[in-house]
Amino acid sequence: MMLATDLDGTFLGGDPDNRQRLYQLINAHPGIKLVFVTGRGLEVVVPLLSDPAIPRPDYIICDVGATVVDGETLQPVYPVQSDIEADWPGEQVVAQRLSVFPGLERQDVPQQRRCSYFCEPGAVTEKVRDAMEGLGCDLLFSAGMYLDCLPRGVNKGSTLRRLVKHLGSSMEEVLVAGDTLNDLSMYEHGFKGVCVGESEPALLEATGDRAKVLHARLSGCGGILEAISHFGFLGPLGVDSELRDLQIKGKADLVMVYHRLPYEEVIEDGKLVRRPPTSPNGILPTLLSFFAGDQPGSWVAWSIHDARKREAFEVHTKVDAENYPNLVAARVALSKNDVDVFYKRFSKEAFWPTLHTFWERAVFREEDWAVFLKVNRLFAERTAAEAAEGAVVWLHDYNLWMVPAFLRPLRPDLNIAFFHHTYFPSADVFNVLPWRREIIGSLLQCDYIGFHIPRQAENFVDVVRGVAPVEVLEEKGCAPRYLTYGCAVGLDRMATMISVHGRPIGLGAHPVGLDVGRVKKITETAECQEQIDELREQLKGVRVVLSVERLDYTKGTHAKLLAFEALLEAHPELIGKVTLITICVPAAREMTIYDELLSQIEQAVGRINGRFSRVGWTPVQFFYRAVPFNELIAYYLMADVMWITPLRDGLNLVAKEYVATQGLLGGSGALVLSEFAGAAAELHGALLTNPHDPHDLRDTLYIGLTLGRSEREARLKELFGVVQHNDIKRWGDEFLEGVRHARALALEHLADKVA
Ligand code: UDP
Repeated sequence: MMLATDLDGTFLGGDPDNRQRLYQLINAHPGIKLVFVTGRGLEVVVPLLSDPAIPRPDYIICDVGATVVDGETLQPVYPVQSDIEADWPGEQVVAQRLSVFPGLERQDVPQQRRCSYFCEPGAVTEKVRDAMEGLGCDLLFSAGMYLDCLPRGVNKGSTLRRLVKHLGSSMEEVLVAGDTLNDLSMYEHGFKGVCVGESEPALLEATGDRAKVLHARLSGCGGILEAISHFGFLGPLGVDSELRDLQIKGKADLVMVYHRLPYEEVIEDGKLVRRPPTSPNGILPTLLSFFAGDQPGSWVAWSIHDARKREAFEVHTKVDAENYPNLVAARVALSKNDVDVFYKRFSKEAFWPTLHTFWERAVFREEDWAVFLKVNRLFAERTAAEAAEGAVVWLHDYNLWMVPAFLRPLRPDLNIAFFHHTYFPSADVFNVLPWRREIIGSLLQCDYIGFHIPRQAENFVDVVRGVAPVEVLEEKGCAPRYLTYGCAVGLDRMATMISVHGRPIGLGAHPVGLDVGRVKKITETAECQEQIDELREQLKGVRVVLSVERLDYTKGTHAKLLAFEALLEAHPELIGKVTLITICVPAAREMTIYDELLSQIEQAVGRINGRFSRVGWTPVQFFYRAVPFNELIAYYLMADVMWITPLRDGLNLVAKEYVATQGLLGGSGALVLSEFAGAAAELHGALLTNPHDPHDLRDTLYIGLTLGRSEREARLKELFGVVQHNDIKRWGDEFLEGVRHARALALEHLADKVA
C-alpha cells in the first residue's frame, strides 16, 4: 500500500501510543510506501527526517503540492517536478504583482514555487483573483487566514496523482490521510481516504458524501490505523496481530550500557577467566554500586566472539554473585574485526578528533559508519531484550551514539538516559560530521542527557538548533558551582529541559568525580609510603613540575615542552633547580596516528636536555610508559606544581587525583590547569592557563612556581573541598536524580499540553 499523509494533526498527531503503533507498523512493513504530503516547505520537513522515531518517507510532496522529492536523496522527482516548474511564473513576478494589494502579509517560512501570505478573508478580492488568473496561477485560501498562490492546477491531490502515475502504482493501493481543508484536494482524485478524528468541520462536510472516505473516530495516527484496518490494507490478520509480534521485554529495572564489561576477560591456560576491573579511575565500581539492591539489573557490553570456532556464545554471565546477586552481564557478541573498526579505528579516527575540535584530523569512512551502526543496533536489540517495562537505561559515551535511534522504536516505554564522557563541541565543529543529523536525531530519543559541564550541554543545544526547532522549557544559572566568565569553558546559564518535535528532553551537567576513599586507602599502604620515601630521596633539592597524560594531540604535550624551554630561557635562575617530569602513557600500537606526535615530543625533550642539562640535573625526565595508579600517587605528592595543559579535554581526572593526594596528605602544591579542560569550570582554586598561548603557558607556570605558601594552601583548600564533596558517588547519584527529575517534569509538561 501507499500511505499519503498530511503531517501536522495527522501523521504527527494523535495519542503517543497510537503514533508509536503506526510507526512500528510502517517500519515492520517495508512494502508500505510512505508519502508525506504537506503545506510546509522542504526545509521545514528536513528536521523530521533526523528523528529516528518517525519512519522515513519514500517521497515528500511539500509546498502544498508545488514540490515533490525523493525521501532518501531529497532530489526532485522528474518529470513531475519539471511539469510543475513549467507552470510557475517565478517568485519575483508573483510577489511583485501581489505587492500592490493591501492586507497581504508574506509568510516568513521557506517556500518554493508558491508565494504564501497571511490575510483576512476580505483581502482576497476579485482584483487579486484576476491578477493571479492573469499570471496563470491558482489561489488557495484556507483556515480563514492562509493564502497560497500556486502554479495553475497544482495542489496536494494533483501532485499525488501525478506521482502515483509516474511510479506506475495502482490508485487502489493508496490511502490518503488529512485533517484540514488544506487536504481536501487529496480526496478529490479518487483515492481511498481518511479524515482523522478531530478534523476541521469544513473538511468533514466537504467529504461527507464520498463513499471512499472514512471519518475516523481516533485523532492523528490512531485514525490512520483505523483506516488501514477498515479498508483491509494489511489483509485479514489486521493491525493488532502484526504489532503483537514486536513486543519484547526483559526483567531489568536498570540497564547499564557501557562499551566494557564490569570485569576483565582474559585467557589463562586456554581458558576464559574473569577478573575484577583494574580501571584506574573508579567509574566501574561506582556504576556497579547501583546494582547492590534487590532490583534486577543488567549490564550490556561487548565481548569478542569468533563465529568460525562454532563455540556456543554465552549471552548472560554472572558479574559478582556475592556482591551483586541480581545483576547479570548481557554480552553482545562481536568479531575482533568489528571491535577494531568500531572502537579502535572509527571512534578514534572520526569522532575523537571532531569532538575535541581537531576536525581537520578526522577521517570519515562510510564503510566504518556501517559497522558503527551495526554494532549500535546490536547493543540496542540486546538492551531492548533486557529491560523491564519502564526501566531506566543508562548509556555511556559516543561509541553508543546510535543506540537510542534503534532502541526507541523497539521500546517506547523506556526511560533512556545518556552520559557523554567526552568533550562536546559547538555546531561549527560538530556539523563537520557527515552523519550529524542521524547522531543528533538519535540523541533526541533520550529522556535525559548528561555532560560534564554546562558548556558541553549548551554546545549540544547549539548543535540541535541546527537540526530541528528547539524550545527551551527550563534553564538555570551555572554559578556558583561552575565558573562563568572566568574560564574558556565557563558559562553563566544553561538549558536544563528542551523540547524537540514535542518531546521533552532533560539536560544536566555532571562532572565525573573521584573515589577519594580509594585514593586515601592507597596512600595508607606501606608500599605507597615506601615509594614516597624513595622518590623524596631521589628528588632532593629540586622542585618538581609534573605532567601526566596519555599520548594524544589533544593533551598539548608538545606545546608544554616548548613553554618549559622558554621558561628556562627567560628565568635562568631556575636552571638546576626545577625539573619537569612528564609521564606519557603510550597509545595502543595499532594507532599509528600518534607516531608523528611521539617523535615530535621526543625531539623536543632531546633538544631541551641537550641545551640545559648539567651533571646531576636533567631538566626534563620523560617516561613513555603507564605508571600504576598507586605509584602515580607518590609522584602526585612530590609535585610542587601539577601542570596539566590539554588543548581540549572533556574533564581531566588527573587534576582531581593530584588535588586529592595533596589534600589528603597535607601538601601545598599548586595546580596549573588548562582552561580548556572541563575540570577547569569546576575546580575553583586552580591557576588557569591558555595552552594555545605560549606566553601564557610559560608565565602561568612561573606564577605556579613562585606562589607564596599561604596562597598555595588557600587554593588547595578550596580545590580539595570541591574534589571531596563532588566525589564519584555524588556524580552517579546526581545523574540518576537528574534522570528521575526530568521524567517527572516531562510528564508534567505533556499533561499541561494536553490540558
Ligand atoms: N593514569 C594512570 N597511569 C598513568 C597515567 C594516567 O593510571 O601512567 C590514569 C590517571 O590516574 C587517570 C587516567 O589515567 O585516572 C586518565 O584520565 P584523564 O581523565 O585525566 O584523561 P583521559 O585519558 O581520560 O583523557
